Amino acid sequence: MMLQDTVEILSKGDESGNHMPIRFTLPSGLEILGLPTENFYGGGWDLGPTWNYVVLIESPFLVDTGKHGMGKALLNMMDSVAFSAEALDSIFISHGHEDHDGGLFDMAQRTGAKVKAHATYDRLIRKYPEHAPPDGRKKFPASCWRCFMPESYTDEYCLDYQRERSQLKIETIGDAGLEMGDATRVYHVPGHSPDSLAILLGDEVIIVGDTILPGITPVPSREAFFGDVKEVLEPGYTSAQSIYGLTAYIKSLKKLRGIGERFPDLLVLPAHRLFYDGRWNALDLVARVDELIQHHILRCADILKILNKGPKSASEIAVEHFEERLLKGFGMLLAENEIISHCELLSASGDVHLAGDDRYVATGSTNFESTIQSLAPDTPAASRQS
Ligand SMILES: [Zn+2]
Ligand SMILES: [Zn+2]
Repeated sequence: MMLQDTVEILSKGDESGNHMPIRFTLPSGLEILGLPTENFYGGGWDLGPTWNYVVLIESPFLVDTGKHGMGKALLNMMDSVAFSAEALDSIFISHGHEDHDGGLFDMAQRTGAKVKAHATYDRLIRKYPEHAPPDGRKKFPASCWRCFMPESYTDEYCLDYQRERSQLKIETIGDAGLEMGDATRVYHVPGHSPDSLAILLGDEVIIVGDTILPGITPVPSREAFFGDVKEVLEPGYTSAQSIYGLTAYIKSLKKLRGIGERFPDLLVLPAHRLFYDGRWNALDLVARVDELIQHHILRCADILKILNKGPKSASEIAVEHFEERLLKGFGMLLAENEIISHCELLSASGDVHLAGDDRYVATGSTNFESTIQSLAPDTPAASRQS
């Protein structure tokens, strides 16, 4: 279905889609509001606003709440499009990143709506100083023990956010997802974040959070975090790759690809870049998954090429691999994170190993591509798709 045929701009915004509430009207009559809230990351890693969606069914629900401090803006935007926030039955969180759950506490308090998120989210927003790794940030919730942002930044921007969300009461969704009576189905699609969800609305729409974005490639999480938080997660996760890292991410992409094959006309609603540079970004689920997987194959190949010249640390690889404009300020930390995620997959494939001095060494093999091609979605989800 053509995105442009179903969307109506309710108020004119800027080139990135900020301040531009929209409404989708699907052939079945289903209506969805798209309410963008501003982000301020800027630079080469600019995401544009977070697109939060209100699904206007009998028990209306909101997906995502923008960054911290955006609760008020979101409520105002609801007002401006004549939607009463009190009518919200529930709020789903696509995943526990601050640009999605930052406004959650505010929204939950002001609307009284139930909060629904993956069980891993419910675990990771809590504080367990006694379980934190000795060199981690004990005063933070488990999700942030390994925060790589400087303390000057987190002290200013994160403390209120973390305190608030650690008090939230969550209705949890398990790995098998959730089926709702009204043709709504929630899927667990870990990888970008261990708690990522995608929400399918009949055969018409899928809300994909940050798992699939147009124009930019979502950053995979790191397998290494699993060891730190394992004790505080729900029991039953035996490997990092079940919810963290590039391997989990690619499996989730393939799960979404399967949904795209079944419903080729789905309108795909991402959490960023739906509208950017003054134009709409329509997504074809199958084609975009294929592009993203190809992108990760090429990135792994390039990392191996760099390592074939000799052992290198993640930051040295990042400097050679990424364009200079992406490495300014916090960009370097993001780039390094991205390289490590890929090196984890390369290392599981036997193509690199990590030497004692934190440098990666190429082993001479190139198994990563067949590893990636052979990854399949986890069985409980796969069987639910048939
Ligand atoms: Zn995210
Ligand atoms: Zn995001």
